[in-house]
Amino acid sequence: MRKKIVAGNWKMNLTVNEAESLVKELNQKVKEGVKADQLIVFPSFTNIVSVVNSIDYSINVGAQNCHESKSGAYTGEVSVDMIQSTGATVILVGHSERRAYFGETNELLAKKVDAVLAADMQAVYCCGETLPEREANNHFRVIESQISEGLFHLDESGISEVVIAYEPVWAIGTGVTASSDQAQEVHAFIRSLIEKKYGNEIAEQISILYGGSCNPKNAEELFRQKDVDGGLIGGAALKANDFIQIANSY
Ligand code: PGA
Repeated sequence: MRKKIVAGNWKMNLTVNEAESLVKELNQKVKEGVKADQLIVFPSFTNIVSVVNSIDYSINVGAQNCHESKSGAYTGEVSVDMIQSTGATVILVGHSERRAYFGETNELLAKKVDAVLAADMQAVYCCGETLPEREANNHFRVIESQISEGLFHLDESGISEVVIAYEPVWAIGTGVTASSDQAQEVHAFIRSLIEKKYGNEIAEQISILYGGSCNPKNAEELFRQKDVDGGLIGGAALKANDFIQIANSY
């Protein structure tokens, strides 16, 4: 059975105090138990330490990005070792906002994935097409290169530590969700790519999350799809109620 994972990407939101309030609410709610096997939150770097120290142990904490180098003269950057030293255990790699606004390429993301796995941390690797790419019917090709160039240098044990998030860029923060059929189609495609490269057993083992305007209303329908193993949640993850409701949408 694949792990059911619901992750909250808090993006560039919440001061230290605001993050602590959200954590308090989340702690309260997870006490009752959730259906997802793994819950992850991705606070900003400035909030990671306080979130790690105050959040219920059943919720994993991750960073939204990392630098690919171990240390050095990279002003303003944060290394995997620094992130790990906070107690965080997961790192998000290749979110479409990093790709679009910070020029992150598949080649660079492959190095970031290596840095994360070298530290024995869990990588959540994002892929997804823009609206023009979908309209030109180019989405499968785009996703194939994101997946193969970013991940397929890994060996079998490496790829097994990766969670994939499919996030169509046109659905992120727009209120327009991919239909469950559209999501399932791409998730099945991603799984078939992994199967071709690593075989059926590994392909069946890797969790593939959907992201893009996922909310308590549409999560159940999305999570019901055969190849949708959970969600990467943006806006709705900033509300404890909504996030936990989504985590219970299985
Ligand atoms: P959204 O963001 O849920 O606000 O659309 C998802 C994401 O960017 O991870």
